[in-house]
Amino acid sequence: MFVLKGTLEVVIGPMYSGKTEELIRRVMRRKIARQNGIIFRVSSDTRNAEELVVSRAGTHLEAKIVSGARDAQMYLDDKLDYVAFDEIQFFESDLVDVVKKFIDAGTDVIVAGLNLDFRSEPFDNVMKIAAMADEIALLKAVCVVCGKDATLTQRLIMKDGEWVPASTKDPIFKVEGSDVKVRYEPRCKDCWKVGE
Ligand code: ADP
Ligand code: MG
Ligand code: ZN
Repeated sequence: MFVLKGTLEVVIGPMYSGKTEELIRRVMRRKIARQNGIIFRVSSDTRNAEELVVSRAGTHLEAKIVSGARDAQMYLDDKLDYVAFDEIQFFESDLVDVVKKFIDAGTDVIVAGLNLDFRSEPFDNVMKIAAMADEIALLKAVCVVCGKDATLTQRLIMKDGEWVPASTKDPIFKVEGSDVKVRYEPRCKDCWKVGE
């Protein structure tokens, strides 16, 4: 039998740009259309242990917490209408293959993730998936310093009682809330700074 391939929608942008909000909005529309699907979130995102995706605007939807893309792949044979993945930068590189498999099986895929890490380097995973997209939405946040559009994510670390830009030599992943001495904010190119 001829199977129509699924489509791939990619939502990228810096922190606070509304990626989770947009993912939820897109999934809500599909729910209204009575489509069946699952939102996946990886367990290394420790900010929220509940089986939900939550946007900073307060909207939320049920989600399955998985340890990696392979756990999501188990739903391949269910012939779901769609699957969605939030925070794809937290998944391993095997997500690329799993996304392809869903598309080949006729399941639509919606993903959301950071465009760039705090050093302003692209995430391999995210870029590989974006390269296969049928549609890419690049969302912008508001720069917390000057109010212009923000496309970058600034990592700040607490040093001698002051928030200062993090060094590019620091590890890429530091989940917000897991370390009191780190925080992130969206900034424009002019306000984004790199530390020593
Ligand atoms: P993301 O998943 O991209 O981190 P969310 O979808 O969780 O973003 O949250 C987006 C919401 O965050 C916005 O709709 C807005 O209500 C709120 N917000 C708070 N600070 C900012 C900011 N500096 N720029 C844009 N949105 C912000
Ligand atoms: Mg988010
Ligand atoms: Zn700015």
